[in-house]
Amino acid sequence: MAFESLSDKLSAAFKRLKSKGKLTEDDVKAAMREVRLALLEADVNYKVAKEFTKKVSERAIGSEVMESLTPGQMVVKIVDEELTNLMGGGEARLNIPSSGPCVMLLCGLQGAGKTTHAAKLGRLLKKKGHRPLLVACDVYRPAAIKQLQIVGQQAGVPVFEEGQGDPIRISKDAVRRAKDYGNDFVLIDTAGRLQIDDKLMDELKNIKEAVHPNEILLVVDSMTGQEAVNVAKSFDEKLDITGVILTKLDGDTRGGAALSVKAVTGKPIKFAGVGEKLDDIEVFHPDRMASRILG
Ligand code: GDP
Repeated sequence: MAFESLSDKLSAAFKRLKSKGKLTEDDVKAAMREVRLALLEADVNYKVAKEFTKKVSERAIGSEVMESLTPGQMVVKIVDEELTNLMGGGEARLNIPSSGPCVMLLCGLQGAGKTTHAAKLGRLLKKKGHRPLLVACDVYRPAAIKQLQIVGQQAGVPVFEEGQGDPIRISKDAVRRAKDYGNDFVLIDTAGRLQIDDKLMDELKNIKEAVHPNEILLVVDSMTGQEAVNVAKSFDEKLDITGVILTKLDGDTRGGAALSVKAVTGKPIKFAGVGEKLDDIEVFHPDRMASRILG
């Protein structure tokens, strides 16, 4: 289960704290050391973990918290609030243009879950009454176009493709088609690579220039922990992404990516992938995720 080890360690630390009744500064500091260790073991970025526990300590020590009747519980509440803030505070909204279709560029490394999430997102939007259009711009592998067609069909969302043509031209043609046919969302599935390289980034930059996407969503695999955060940082530097789709949260991911990506890149997680089926996508709610981690 996701975050299992982190949740267990945090609840052990807080159990000790809650059993104490009145708290001293040293009690809080000791608990925060445990929290920091638990975060680091969950693969949370070192700086993020350090600043997080510093912030919680500052809020807890020397305030009414220590004087309250249930100081342990108050500290847990602060941790809950700060975990929520760490992941972006409130739910991140989509940038919807006032006229014309909302163009969303999905990018990421191979295997992260781009194609699957293009279809999941299409299905989610369709269920909400929208008319999305999926676009096959991963032109290097014929199997990728076929895969999008299959998941598109399963999701009940049309797929625009021009075979193994030029991805820039395809994305432009797709936006034009969306305008002509009244599709209000255009979801562009792009090529991935095993690693970040200049060719991939140049192609994505060119698509960005050609269609001016309202959203550039980076799809990252939560199972890869800090690596996912590094990938997000690189993509953001090159493309100025607008958000992240964090996938495979149904696995036994430790939590590092979910907890660090917003703090490191400044860009929010907008959606979470929670399984292989097309309905397994959720709008990302930082507060719910914090509650889940705290158990
Ligand atoms: P792409 O190369 O980035 O387009 O990745 P795909 O969409 O082909 O996904 C790669 C693999 O990850 C596939 O086997 C998907 O079924 C799987 N996958 C994608 N998202 C999730 C998820 O949220 N949970 C789980 N368990 N598997 C996922």
